[in-house]
Amino acid sequence: MLKYIIVTGGVLSGLGKGVIASSIGLLLKEQGYKVTAIKIDPYLNCDAGTMNPFQHGEVFVLEDGGEVDLDLGNYERFLDINLHRDNNITTGKVYKNVIEKERRGDYLGKTVQIVPHITNEIKEWIRRVALNSKADICVIEVGGTVGDIESMPFLEAVRQLHLEEGHKNVVFIHTTLIPIISVVGEQKTKPTQHSVKELRAIGIDPDAIVGRCSEPLKEETKRKISLFCNVPINAVFSSPNVESIYELPIVLEKQGMTEFILNRFEIKKRNNGLKKWYGYIERIKNLENEVNIAIVGKYTALGDSYLSIIEAFRHAGAELNTKVNIAWIEAEDLEDDAGILKKMDGVLVPGGFGSRGAEGKIQSIKFARENKKPFLGICFGFQLAVVEYGRNVIGLNCNTTEIEPNVEHPIVTILPEQYDVDMLGGTMRLGAQSVLIKEGTLAYRLYKKKEIYERHRHRYEVNPEYVEMLEKNGMIFSGIAKDRIRMEILELHGHPYFIASQFHPEFKSRPLKPVPLFYGLVKASLEEKIK
Ligand code: GLN
Repeated sequence: MLKYIIVTGGVLSGLGKGVIASSIGLLLKEQGYKVTAIKIDPYLNCDAGTMNPFQHGEVFVLEDGGEVDLDLGNYERFLDINLHRDNNITTGKVYKNVIEKERRGDYLGKTVQIVPHITNEIKEWIRRVALNSKADICVIEVGGTVGDIESMPFLEAVRQLHLEEGHKNVVFIHTTLIPIISVVGEQKTKPTQHSVKELRAIGIDPDAIVGRCSEPLKEETKRKISLFCNVPINAVFSSPNVESIYELPIVLEKQGMTEFILNRFEIKKRNNGLKKWYGYIERIKNLENEVNIAIVGKYTALGDSYLSIIEAFRHAGAELNTKVNIAWIEAEDLEDDAGILKKMDGVLVPGGFGSRGAEGKIQSIKFARENKKPFLGICFGFQLAVVEYGRNVIGLNCNTTEIEPNVEHPIVTILPEQYDVDMLGGTMRLGAQSVLIKEGTLAYRLYKKKEIYERHRHRYEVNPEYVEMLEKNGMIFSGIAKDRIRMEILELHGHPYFIASQFHPEFKSRPLKPVPLFYGLVKASLEEKIK
């Protein structure tokens, strides 16, 4: 039994389709089915690695080093599974495969066309991923909006998939926007009607409609959608604004989404699922403590650029009965004075690239170190903590060569395996790598393990030639790679919480499984605040 749920989007993007797809996946997982999820991104980039986070949100990194769309982060968090790079299909990947096959001569004699060659490639890809994952149910989210030229081949492919797999094995769920015209307060269904019409023209009949609206859909609105879009009224669902995205599975469950899908698949309801989840939501809605943590970054106008970090704070906060208020601080604004951090209980300097804002980040690290503010640095934040220490404690004229290639003391420098790299896509040190942790350190107290695997995404590292000098001057490298050359975690003692990692701990954080470095930061910030 392999069943497919295909989630499409209409009217406009940014409807929270990824969270809706993840929530539906969770409902079925809680029924005891094995669920996997695929994201289709109809752009020509082969992966998200080369894309600006300001345009597309953060680049999520998987265990296998895949640099993927942030929705895969949502799937991993909701479903508590690890996905593979192939779970993100892009137009670029599909065309690349087909063109390679053509050059090899696999289609010898044939004219290679979008239908059937591109669509076959898409279907094969979907089936391969679904089969390899050994899932019972595969949720496929088709990115973009129905009607876009880019997504046509994918919609055509899933139309064929429905025909080939059979009606009881494929469910189509269409998510749309239901705007409210403020003067009259009426929930408008016309954009939904048009987008369903568009979907029909392609040959796809949606089984259910999820209406994204600032409030729950009224009975009357549901009736209208049902009539004009040709779906039964029990197949029209509301996705209203919720305080936390983790409430959405419950919102959908209460409207009968689980029964609807199970009936459509002709499979049995096995239990009253989501029990653990209800407890978790209760907890995160009633947090008793509060801390203010500054994120000093570069794309702070768009929360999506740091989505996994925000989520990691939520997960850690839930465990500590603490609401984490995030203060977004544009690094460039701190270059002269980091004093606004005084009001904060903790500071996080996240990953990043390039010189803009780097000096401001260094200022904020100096401030946290000197004023004993709990601090966590991630990747670029780790590298800049080394630069800050080199400059202000040891007195070196130092920098990372990413910013100053000819600096006197290149305390952070390019990885040896990067010397000859001339292509930017997919060439960083990526994915899960082993880190050995020294006993008796803060890192060990947090992880309680001698070896961990964490996800990486970087081209630069602490210059091995400066490690001894840094250590002599009090910096502790409490985590190192197996080769014992690469520094992975640094910490300072005599400070309530000063720690940084070359890897990105945020990518492994899950709702009921916060990760140690974030847990530690929230806990230390709370303790400092109470002091
Ligand atoms: N720019 C740095 C590097 O490439 C850090 C990367 C990051 O923060 N993800 O090593």
